[in-house]
Amino acid sequence: MTMTVALTGASGAMGKPTLDALLASDKNYRVRILLRDTESERRFARTYRKIPSSRLEIIYGDIKNKEDCLRLAAGADYLMHMAALIPPGSDHDLELTRRTNYDGSVNVFEAVRAQEKQPKLVYISSVAVYGNRNYIHPWGRVGDPLLPSTFDVYAATKVRAERYLLDSDVKCWAILRQTGILHPKMLTNNIKDGLMFHTSWNSPLEWVTADDSGRLMCNIVDYDLDGKTEGFWNKVYNIGGGKINRRTGYDTFDGGFKIIGGSAESFLEPVWNSPRNFHGIWYTDSYILEDYFHFRSQSVEDYWNIVAEAHPVYALAKFLPPKIIKKLVIERLLGDSNAPMRWVKSHESAKVAAAFGSTENIDLCPASWKDYPVLCKGQLVDGEIDYDELRDDEYARTHGYLLDHGYDDTKPDSELDIEDMRAAASFRGGKCLSESMTKGDLNTKLLWECHDGHRFESSPYTILKAGHWCPECCQPEPWKFDILAKSIPFFAQVWYDSHARGENGIYYYKNNKAEGFRMKDGVLCKI
Ligand SMILES: [Zn+2]
Repeated sequence: MTMTVALTGASGAMGKPTLDALLASDKNYRVRILLRDTESERRFARTYRKIPSSRLEIIYGDIKNKEDCLRLAAGADYLMHMAALIPPGSDHDLELTRRTNYDGSVNVFEAVRAQEKQPKLVYISSVAVYGNRNYIHPWGRVGDPLLPSTFDVYAATKVRAERYLLDSDVKCWAILRQTGILHPKMLTNNIKDGLMFHTSWNSPLEWVTADDSGRLMCNIVDYDLDGKTEGFWNKVYNIGGGKINRRTGYDTFDGGFKIIGGSAESFLEPVWNSPRNFHGIWYTDSYILEDYFHFRSQSVEDYWNIVAEAHPVYALAKFLPPKIIKKLVIERLLGDSNAPMRWVKSHESAKVAAAFGSTENIDLCPASWKDYPVLCKGQLVDGEIDYDELRDDEYARTHGYLLDHGYDDTKPDSELDIEDMRAAASFRGGKCLSESMTKGDLNTKLLWECHDGHRFESSPYTILKAGHWCPECCQPEPWKFDILAKSIPFFAQVWYDSHARGENGIYYYKNNKAEGFRMKDGVLCKI
């Protein structure tokens, strides 16, 4: 029997390699894709005109339209929801980001629910849900707190859409939190927007290539049909490229700039990039998807070599002095509306506070690289660290780098009972109000209460295993983790790695303008 695999976002960085892998699979899938009716999407469709419609069905529509989602899901056996407005686009059109990433995702999930025989659903979420990390806790895993960075609407929509799916009764699903994806247009996109300056020099990043991601998506279907996915469905996972792809912001830039004859230090200055409020993590649990689906084949070096081969013009830049490229290509981006240095110049104080803490912190940043501690060189503000050792997940597990989830997470799921729920709720500053549960049943919803008295029903899986908590106060917007961390030890254990206890900020957008308030001596003051 021919299986139908439906895709959203098929023309995107992850969607295209997924589509290509599915079409190349010897299982002869019928692939149905939803493309927007735009010139660029039609141009994309034309590159597949030789594929017969019995193999590739193209629907023109939009996930923001419920009817289009129903057409996509009708009769499908699998639905892979990859469509999203991602940074930098998401930073420039907040309302479209909310409507696409949240409303659109709800439409997709509801279209799945509406089918008599529901397709198996794979939803692509993001590493951005975890928010900012630095060398103190560079490691993360599913179940860690969700602390999307301030003013990152993209991350906020991912948290909310995940929550909607987790709280829904979609029968068979998987949420995959995608890490930084190395795709063919990354370098070109990066030298167009101030987004490149959001990458903190010392933020951990575990890259994966677009082709490996596409292979993962195809293998999920292939292996599922071969009966090799026992225990996989109805869980959340992290996608990552493993140890060889663990970098920081600094060595990622360094590798990319080599192609055009430069380096992080010859093209950039320490103060240009924000020291926090980014997102990125090294995963102790990304091996789980690899063990299931054997999709990893490319390293970051492989990727840069492919980029260099595909764009021989980049090599010409090697004949120019780095100073010229720095001046002509990079420095002009400092004035982009998405660049932290532009926020400083134009006194966008809420964005400056979120990114730097304060303007004083900018003045204190070393002007020269020789004075700036670079983690991938083993340098810390107050000493040295073994960068290779730090990137080893076994080292992380045995040296106290894992965050506390508030209950004994070494217990098998089948042993978790109401006492574990109470302990987890208490670590989140709240309570589990349900008086009993069936031991090991992580799917039946229980009643919870947050520190602020909001009551909500969620499954033990959603709270203990997926890292979600109060849907009223812990899901931006607004962003008020400074305040929440005071009552929620689960958040505090990582929040204060990059925030001061006295910050007390509440951040939000008003008419698309970033604003914030801060509690000072019991009085709310504008930031
Ligand atoms: Zn609450």
